[in-house]
Amino acid sequence: MAIRWRCSVCGYIYDPKKGDPESGLGPGIRFEKLPEYWGCPDCGAEKEMFEKIENYENEYPNY
Ligand SMILES: [Zn+2]
Repeated sequence: MAIRWRCSVCGYIYDPKKGDPESGLGPGIRFEKLPEYWGCPDCGAEKEMFEKIENYENEYPNY
């Protein structure tokens, strides 16, 4: 089961296995462990704007 987090504002996908290298985070940082100041790299939305996707491979079979 692949878990991802999706920004509900712009659709950015956070992949815990990759982290957010551009912000100096990860790879391998779980979403829950991201610092509070972290926001969407694309649109700047706050963490609370993200929604959890429990079965990413089902929603995105071609990923
Ligand atoms: Zn976003």
